[in-house]
Amino acid sequence: MTSSPIFPDTPAAERVRHELKRRALTVSAVERITPNMLRITLTGSDLADFPSASPDDHVKVFIEGPDGQAQMRDYTPRRFDRASCELVLDFALHEAGPATAWALAAKQGDPLIVGGPRGSLVLSKEIKRFLLIGDETALPAIGRRIEEAGPGVDITVYAAVTGPEEQQSFASAANVSLNWVYRPAEDAASAQRLLGALDDLNVAPGTYVWVAAEASVARAIRTHIVEKAGYPLAWIKASGYWLLGQADAHEKLD
Ligand SMILES: Cc1cc2nc3c(=O)[nH]c(=O)nc-3n(C[C@H](O)[C@H](O)[C@H](O)COP(=O)(O)OP(=O)(O)OC[C@H]3O[C@@H](n4cnc5c(N)ncnc54)[C@H](O)[C@@H]3O)c2cc1C
Repeated sequence: MTSSPIFPDTPAAERVRHELKRRALTVSAVERITPNMLRITLTGSDLADFPSASPDDHVKVFIEGPDGQAQMRDYTPRRFDRASCELVLDFALHEAGPATAWALAAKQGDPLIVGGPRGSLVLSKEIKRFLLIGDETALPAIGRRIEEAGPGVDITVYAAVTGPEEQQSFASAANVSLNWVYRPAEDAASAQRLLGALDDLNVAPGTYVWVAAEASVARAIRTHIVEKAGYPLAWIKASGYWLLGQADAHEKLD
């Protein structure tokens, strides 16, 4: 007699709350890691108690809008080193927006106020299989998840970027399968290419599926995985990290 593994209805995870703080930081380095991805390292003693328990945490960066009004945008703590009090954020560059404009102009010594993270969704170490799907804005969380994964973990990634020049490489102890899907920047809100790449994909039970992209893309991928691959919704965390034509917009698709 054969038996198939039984997985719980929902992935084991703990929601951890953090004391909400604003931290005054200083830019210590700016590096263009690919033509359209700007890596900004921030330092400051305020980071001594910075909490970041999960690869898909987010902080709010406080910047000035074109009208001089304060604006906030969400960014992923791509890397954090408590010993050196260094926080790294990766900015996917696009045509407009105050956060993008701030990053493009940033130089060593510039100040930046960062708020949060407010909380973290910490997954159980028992989850050994991940399917991570997203666009450029998802790469910081995807890269961090890959780099922080231990041996015996399988991670499959489908990442939409504009071309080979935007590919990144990640060091990992895990088994990682990276699939780059190319589409022009003007098609960043079209799910077509990603859906094409996912067409024949079977999602094994017990896989934590994580999706982040433009909201309509994230929604289309989530629907595809539920309806075509027959995968349970509870094992999929999908988020709209930005909305086409709307500033300061994101969408939780739980
Ligand atoms: C939890 C979370 C974590 C995130 N982490 C990151 C991260 O680590 N790195 C990162 O780069 N982004 C990340 N994002 C996405 C980022 O917050 C948005 O892209 C944000 O809108 C950028 O702000 P902005 O001021 O540049 O543009 P906005 O002023 O918000 O928008 C201006 C215009 O640009 C468009 N736009 C916004 N983002 C994009 C884009 N990526 N591509 C094309 N057009 C766009 C909007 O539709 C709007 O028309 C994250 C979002 C969330 C919700």
